[in-house]
This record gives sequence, C-alpha cells and structure tokens, in this order.
Amino acid sequence: MPPHKIGTKAQIVQFTNCRILRGHELIWEDLWIREGQILDPEKLFFEEKKSADKKKDCEGHILAPGFIDVQINGGFGVDFSLTNEDISAGVALVAKNLLAYGVTSFCPTLVTSPPDIYHKVLPQITVRNGSARGAGVLGAHVEGPFISHEKRGAHPDSHLRTFEADAFQELLKTYGSLDNIAIITLAPELKRSHEVIKELTSRGICVSVGHSVSHLQEAEEAVRNGARFITHLFNAMLPFHHRDPGIVGLLTSDQIAPEQQVFFGMIADGIHTHPAALRIAHRAHPKGCSVETALEAATLHPAQLLRIEKQKGTLDFGSDADFIVLDDSLNVKATYIAGDLVWKDETFSH
Ligand code: ZN
Repeated sequence: MPPHKIGTKAQIVQFTNCRILRGHELIWEDLWIREGQILDPEKLFFEEKKSADKKKDCEGHILAPGFIDVQINGGFGVDFSLTNEDISAGVALVAKNLLAYGVTSFCPTLVTSPPDIYHKVLPQITVRNGSARGAGVLGAHVEGPFISHEKRGAHPDSHLRTFEADAFQELLKTYGSLDNIAIITLAPELKRSHEVIKELTSRGICVSVGHSVSHLQEAEEAVRNGARFITHLFNAMLPFHHRDPGIVGLLTSDQIAPEQQVFFGMIADGIHTHPAALRIAHRAHPKGCSVETALEAATLHPAQLLRIEKQKGTLDFGSDADFIVLDDSLNVKATYIAGDLVWKDETFSH
C-alpha cells in the first residue's frame, strides 16, 4: 500500500475515555494519531515535547482496528462477477456501504468466470487506500476457475479449468495478470496445483484451498507449499470423516510446522454452517471466545493472512489509523480511516 500523504494532516488528535485493543487485550488507554498513523505518546512528549492539538471523548467505548473482509462477492445489490455491470462503480458502492459495518478494507471476490471477464474486471479492482468515499481495496480474491467440478457450488461448470502442462503460464493467461490479485482459491487435488501454489506464494499471492474434494494429505501438502487459508470452511469441501477428515483436518493436523499458521473463513450465519460446526472450528483452537479474540478474528488475523499486519489489523504504534468505535454489544458507532472520521452512527457525538 502506498503510504498516506505526509504533511497534510499534521494535527495530533488524542482519543480519550476509551478501551483500546492492544496486545490481545482491551486496555483503558488513549489513542494518539497524526498524519493517518497511530502515534507513540511517550516519544511525542519526551522527544518532540508535543501534546495533542485536539481531544475526542469516546464515551467509554471500545476502539478496535477496522474490520478487514477477505471475501465479499458483492452486496447492496451489486455482484462483482456479473459482466453487464460497471465493476468500478459496483466496487465503489460496496466500499462506501461497508463503512457503516466497520469494514475499513476488503478484497472484492469473483466467482469462476471465463478469461475475457477476468481480463475486463481485474484491472478495475485496483488496490487503493480507504477514505470517506469507501473502504480500502486490498486486491481481488478470485475463487476459481481451478476448482473441483463436484464442489463447484454456484460456480458455472462450463468455465472450470484444470492445470495442464505449463500450469503457471496457463494460470497467468487465464487471469491476464496477477497485479490486482491478493488471494486465489483453488482445489489442491488438481494435478500440478502444488507447483502453482509454490509459484504464487513466491510472488506474494495468498493461496487458499477450497471448492475442493481434497483429502487431508493433499491439503497438508498444499500448506507445506505455501497455502495459508481455507475458503468458507465446511462449505464446498468433503464433509469431515474420521478416517480422512479432508481439508477440515487442517485445523488439528500435526503434519504442518507450527509457524505455518492456517487461517480460515466461515459463513457463520447459522444457515451455511450450523452453530455447532462453528463451535467445533473454534474449539480446535485453545482460547475461549472473548471479545478480544472475536475482534482479532476480524482484524489481526486477516491482516496476518495478507501479511500486512505492520500497517493494518492492529492499533500498534506506527500502524495506519484505521479503527472503529464499538459499544459493549459490538455495535459500530463510528469508523475512521487514516485518522479521518468516515462514518458515524447518528447518536454518536464525534
Ligand atoms: Zn465459494
């Protein structure tokens, strides 16, 4: 991401009377920002001998990093994969509407499409910072077309592809360019997928496994080659079986090095997945689900997935000042991007 413009917003703002999410905890502490970034107040006092130009009372609310959504296929009447729409306008409309939900950056997601659609749509999904006009775009998430015929779900069968000889070149030709792509969901059981996973990972593209009939061993091999995300866990994959738990088994696999963390997304709406399935996924990890853990699942973890946690997903000193104000029931009261108020609930004072 390009850095925020220096010099335009040198004002120091101190957010007071708030609990901020920092170091995996909610702590009573003020948040200081300048030029779109979070400041270390000690350095400000002792090195620069400066104090706040402006204070904002947060009424005892929670301040958390802005939410990062790594899979959104559309919304608010827009479907990013539909060819007859102006995709730039569609992305802009969704970006604007996401501000009220506390989302400060996202990955517009495309389902399986023919190459000419990728060539037309992907250049329009440019990576950009957020602003009052809308949440920032971190790059596209492309689901398919290298996915399983049996687990294609709503993806059109006629556009699915397999990897033939020269698999990576074929993938490049299909998408046209990797420039605006952040995440690719593919089925790791496809022949030659592992060489593709290695190549994509070396180029900084996040590989996700999904829409797949992969057995656990193939999924583990994919992770060893660099895959680090599971697209909508439980949906569009083999159901958990005790002799071969499939992709779901990645949650508790002992065949992956501990430093190779595997993240997953879930459609936690109680329809696509039963609440008990959500609890199984949650309990596969040691922590009980606190507010802090839930907030980090929507902020820190997607930032780590995309390897942007030095800029986003935390309120650490030096991070982008993309943050949200939440009440105790986690309703979004206000959304800030690069230190600017970009949305607020009408009852909130800021
Ligand atoms: Zn899907």
